[in-house]
Amino acid sequence: MLAMPANVIKLARRFRSAGYELFVVGGAVRDALRGRPVSDYDFATSARPEEVRGLFRRVIPTGLKHGTVTIVEHGEHFEVTTYRSDGDYSDHRRPDTVQFTRSLDQDLARRDFTINAIAYDPVDRTIVDPYDGRGDIAAQLVRSVGSAATRFDEDALRMLRAVRFACVFEYELDPPVVAAIEQLSATIDAVSAERIRDELSKMMRAAQPSRGWEVLQATGLLAHVVPELARCHPDRAPVDVFGHLLATVDCSENDEISRWAALLHDIAKPETYQNNAGTVHFPGHDERSAERAIEILTRLRFSNETVKRISELVRHHMIGYSATWSDAAVRRFIARVGRDAIDDQLRLARADRCAYGARTAPAIDELEDRIVAILRSNAPLTMSDLAIDGRDVMTELGLKPGPVVGIVLRELYETVLDNPEQNERDTLLAIAKEFARQRLTYDSDKES
Ligand code: ATP
Ligand code: MG
Repeated sequence: MLAMPANVIKLARRFRSAGYELFVVGGAVRDALRGRPVSDYDFATSARPEEVRGLFRRVIPTGLKHGTVTIVEHGEHFEVTTYRSDGDYSDHRRPDTVQFTRSLDQDLARRDFTINAIAYDPVDRTIVDPYDGRGDIAAQLVRSVGSAATRFDEDALRMLRAVRFACVFEYELDPPVVAAIEQLSATIDAVSAERIRDELSKMMRAAQPSRGWEVLQATGLLAHVVPELARCHPDRAPVDVFGHLLATVDCSENDEISRWAALLHDIAKPETYQNNAGTVHFPGHDERSAERAIEILTRLRFSNETVKRISELVRHHMIGYSATWSDAAVRRFIARVGRDAIDDQLRLARADRCAYGARTAPAIDELEDRIVAILRSNAPLTMSDLAIDGRDVMTELGLKPGPVVGIVLRELYETVLDNPEQNERDTLLAIAKEFARQRLTYDSDKES
């Protein structure tokens, strides 16, 4: 018997007493059977959407066309979908028509994988499992309901879902599923970038995302969803960047920013590869990888904020720290990376080391200690930390607003990065005056 919350049982009784069926379906049944916590319940019912609306006071027409409504009861939301069977598919994505039915079996037949096609009656506490999804959970297998090729041809997103489920649950893919993906991988192009991103993001939350990326590569899907990464594979690149990127992902912290930064940090190595008499270089690969990261993540419709955070981590991943760095060099590093991104940047550096097999990263530990000390000391790190601002510069030097003010501020900023003790109003005003006397006159002499 599966444990169900009291409000789910109550909901099912309401349907039952009105003469309808209500089953828990999909991920909730699957995850309960796997012994995993369930957060999100999906329901299937024999009642038509308008019949559901007649039963409850508040019903939101969430996806009425597909038979989905949301019941709001005592502040809780229940997503209920009328049993349906899908018509023909002509776009590899959506059924041309959907038909409501009173048959649970028909509803289960349209579902993608056997592990997702199990229904549970919370009142009678019975399981309906026509495709032996329980057997596949026990066998840890992702198997299609019916012919994999037919089901993927209907809806190409299912190929990515198969890879995602296998990766996250650490299940195997049924061989016909693999064969069908190999055959139909190009049809993934019919799926919107948002849907692809959502699946990849869920896959990235796995304990070992590399397992999923390997399958995407081996089946040909990768060349469609992230072709830049496919070009890192030793089949196509002069060195195995793919293996290193995947190892870095598995070593990275399990959050979206860390995972994607790890995956993309060296993505431009194949295109910047140089071999000078046996010595391999990747000049500018950090900048180039950041540019590629922006292209890839923008194409996958990540938010601007996320694109920026990830690509900046990629841009600054070549830290090159050594104990010979001066404190000013550490301050410049913090200023360049940005105070808020420092933790993520160091985590990426650790994942990068870990991917090369290092258990410890003493240099990063040392850098981190020095960063902590500098942040505690309140040393100036950004322009806005300067003890004077643009208005002070204009007043003191008799300047109008314009680029010269910025040049002076930049000079002061460089000065206090090297000498934090000089970040004091009178000192900076004096430095500004001296700078103006020496450099600004010189520049204007040269111009005239
Ligand atoms: P999770 O919520 O953990 O991603 P889930 O299985 O609940 O997993 P949903 O996207 O919430 O996935 O879908 C709920 C159910 O709807 C699935 O379990 C499956 O039965 C069915 N389903 C979802 N997407 C598809 C699809 N593209 N093709 C066929 N059935 C699908
Ligand atoms: Mg779900």
